Amino acid sequence: MGRVPCAHCAIPTKDAAARMLAEHRIARIEERQIQDRYPRSVGRNAKGSPQGTGGVRRFRILTTDKGASGWAMAYTTDAEVQKFIGARVGDLFDVERGSVEDVRPLDKVFYDLAANILGLPVYAMIGAKGPREIPIYSGAIYFDDLEPPARPRGVAGVIASCRQDYEAGYRAFKLKIGRGFKHMPHAEGLKRDIDVTRAVRETFPDCKILVDANDAYTRDEFIAYLNAVADCDLYFIEEPFAENRDDLLRLREVMSKVGCKAMIAEGEGRTDASKAPWRYGGYSEKHIEHLYALAAEKLVDVFVLDLDIVGFTNWRHVMPELVKAGGKASPHLWAGTPRPYYTAHLAAGVGNVVIIEGIPGRLVQADYSAFTISNGNLVVPDVPGFGLALKG
Ligand SMILES: [Mg+2]
Repeated sequence: MGRVPCAHCAIPTKDAAARMLAEHRIARIEERQIQDRYPRSVGRNAKGSPQGTGGVRRFRILTTDKGASGWAMAYTTDAEVQKFIGARVGDLFDVERGSVEDVRPLDKVFYDLAANILGLPVYAMIGAKGPREIPIYSGAIYFDDLEPPARPRGVAGVIASCRQDYEAGYRAFKLKIGRGFKHMPHAEGLKRDIDVTRAVRETFPDCKILVDANDAYTRDEFIAYLNAVADCDLYFIEEPFAENRDDLLRLREVMSKVGCKAMIAEGEGRTDASKAPWRYGGYSEKHIEHLYALAAEKLVDVFVLDLDIVGFTNWRHVMPELVKAGGKASPHLWAGTPRPYYTAHLAAGVGNVVIIEGIPGRLVQADYSAFTISNGNLVVPDVPGFGLALKG
């Protein structure tokens, strides 16, 4: 399943694409479980336990009777998918509409397969409306100051993680904050969050700093943090506290008073789920309506809804709605090292993704080398499919 250079990338007409997809029938649906490897052991966030060195991810591989194939992350059972053996690819996937509802557990696998059949990168197949070079941040800057527990490294531990990702090409870091929620006494945790932020700003003056509290702060605690890092030029503030209109209004006031121009990112955390899939996948209507109401008042700038809870096909179709509301996207995608690359195709295909969450590392049996990071931007390659090669 190596990559074939996409020499011409001629886009077939809609009818020609449909004909090409209809010529293939699904012959095999296999599952693979593959170990992910981060370049280091990743620590805790405000609410969780250490992430470690990477987990096992599940994939599906589709192969057609004509020998075409596609693969992507997919968490599904055999019972849900084996019924599609023998089906025409063109009956399950349409270039404009995406995958039909029934095969949504294999949504991304169908994008890889269809794009491989058409000889196109996924981003080109879905419209190429966005840039092919998209800013990317390291999403792996957790509480590495608290590890290892027997001999915590302090602020230097976080700087070392940033350094490693800087050397890999990243020019933006998302710092997990909220140490005082449960891992440290309140005041000490706040101080460490401030010290870490200031140290990263000082050490990496050319990099963007994003912060993510996983809703672990109260409004007033977060404002205390913000006042102490007001000169650190924060780029993006994610989930500082559980989102609500009054607290976000107050935050905006303080931001404007201290000259903080950061974007506010919300929407990852949810307290409920939709009863049935709809255009925002597994998020409840209540959650989505709340986000849009906050966006309408300019209290939320970036929606960080999860790539796969919404779903790849759904993201394509709701992006215009988000654009209309004046919002940007940066789909949540921790964890699973292939997910930033799927998101890169979404970003280059439909646009409006302000920055991609990066996950340093890779699957032990995959080759991501078609992708590069240049000047802090992830460059989407012109090779068919998602451009990730499965080895072995
Ligand atoms: Mg988050």
